[in-house]
Amino acid sequence: MACPECDLLQRIGSLPKEETAVCLRCGAFLRRGAHESLDIPLTISFVALLLFGAANAFPLLVLQLHGSVQLATIPGCVNALVSLGWPWLAAILITTVVLAPPVYLGGLIYVLIQARRKHTTRWAMRIFRIVLEFQPWGMTEVFLLGILVAYVRLNDMAIVIPGASLYALAAFTVAMATLITSLDPRAVWDALEGGL
Ligand SMILES: [Zn+2]
Repeated sequence: MACPECDLLQRIGSLPKEETAVCLRCGAFLRRGAHESLDIPLTISFVALLLFGAANAFPLLVLQLHGSVQLATIPGCVNALVSLGWPWLAAILITTVVLAPPVYLGGLIYVLIQARRKHTTRWAMRIFRIVLEFQPWGMTEVFLLGILVAYVRLNDMAIVIPGASLYALAAFTVAMATLITSLDPRAVWDALEGGL
């Protein structure tokens, strides 16, 4: 890494706990050797993946209007956007809500398992780079907000019951926020480099 003070490029090996690395040239603080356990982000990743599966398997909203019952699901939302003539919006929904979360979580779980086993392959490093690129593309929280707005507005016209998927999606959003705060990419890089 480059020193934040003088830009000197230095390679920092894995640091034991409670040791700090300082710049060779100017003595500026570079990083602390707080090796966080990778078990916590790994467990949260599994939980988030299960919640994501549940969010896709059940209805988001159940609408009752004039005796007929309509189920709104995530795949149903994609179909509805296509049939309304908004394929681009459907593509954005697929990318940010349907594809990005499982690609991110699946890749992350693979990388974290490899890092924990200290048996690193070049693939794990490549996949971790892709996973980090994918992280900003998951936008389920924006989608959830949209569903909540729809729920409030539709309530005036029909009987709207929140489905199991809505709760799963809300729990998934919380799990993802917890995952991102508990995951220290540098700790993962250290573990991966240690296994090479
Ligand atoms: Zn320096």
